[in-house]
Amino acid sequence: MLILSDPIPLAPQGFKSGFVALVGRPNVGKSTLLNGLVGQKIAITSPTPQTTRNRLQGILTLETAQIILVDTPGIHKPHHLLGETIVHNAIGAISAVDLVVWVVDSTVPLGTGDRFVADMIIKAKTPAVVGLNKIDGSPSDRILSTYTDYARELNWQALQFSALNETGLEELKIALGDRLPLGPYYYSPDLVTDQPERFIMAELIREQILLLTREEIPHSVAISIDKVDEQPKLTSVMATIHVERDSQKGILIGKKGAMIKEIGTQARLQMQKMIMGSVHLEMFVRVQSNWRSHPSQLADLGYRKEK
Ligand code: GDP
Ligand code: MG
Repeated sequence: MLILSDPIPLAPQGFKSGFVALVGRPNVGKSTLLNGLVGQKIAITSPTPQTTRNRLQGILTLETAQIILVDTPGIHKPHHLLGETIVHNAIGAISAVDLVVWVVDSTVPLGTGDRFVADMIIKAKTPAVVGLNKIDGSPSDRILSTYTDYARELNWQALQFSALNETGLEELKIALGDRLPLGPYYYSPDLVTDQPERFIMAELIREQILLLTREEIPHSVAISIDKVDEQPKLTSVMATIHVERDSQKGILIGKKGAMIKEIGTQARLQMQKMIMGSVHLEMFVRVQSNWRSHPSQLADLGYRKEK
């Protein structure tokens, strides 16, 4: 279970704690890294860029430190209101934390998109380390050295790892913990996220929509969890999928309901893993035109612009 009410212990002498933001271009592996570091799936991931919308905190408690990891949506140039909100929140996240991991894809050359992110970190004046991810993809020495040279110029330590295979993550954990200030436990050591189960459930449905419908249902989808009824042997979940157009509703439902059935089956299996029990999932699809352009509707569905 994610929600526990154990008391927060007193931190021993010399204990360190603080907030670490995972920042980088879309698709470099920030959410995969978050899951790898906390050892549980709390952030959804997909090959589609911009899967992550909200700020999500992962909690990693070591013997000597508690690291609160902040997953951020990938940084890119905004095209509409939802995009602007995402960038605004990402900049906010960088200046508010103790440390940043600038995550890059080491199999791809350092480009303008990466420099755009690095510039934001420099402007925020937040200490940073460079996380060279996807090292399992055998990056060329030439590409690796452009990243490490750039890191040296900025005085940022560079670390190599694979978020997917979880190699190099122990070294990363230690490096992050070492750089935090002395501090208390912010959360109970057995918590892995600050998010309520309902939020993760909504995200698990959204993940299956992204995976199963690919480009057909782009980002014009939002999920609300309307009811969770926890019985000893079965947890019943009622959810609504909000889309903008009738055509999208058609795709989501699929031929004779095949698509919605598959989304439901896969999302239910993921939810069962999370709560370690049986789940009954009922989903409705609702058409609500242009929800992305209305701030009040964005807020209703949980996408708030943070101050
Ligand atoms: P984000 O947009 O930065 O949060 O990226 P995601 O975590 O959603 O990952 C984007 C894609 O990269 C997914 O298909 C991941 O499976 C893949 N990915 C993430 N980390 C690694 C890694 O270490 N190695 C490889 N080969 N793929 C990875
Ligand atoms: Mg992500």
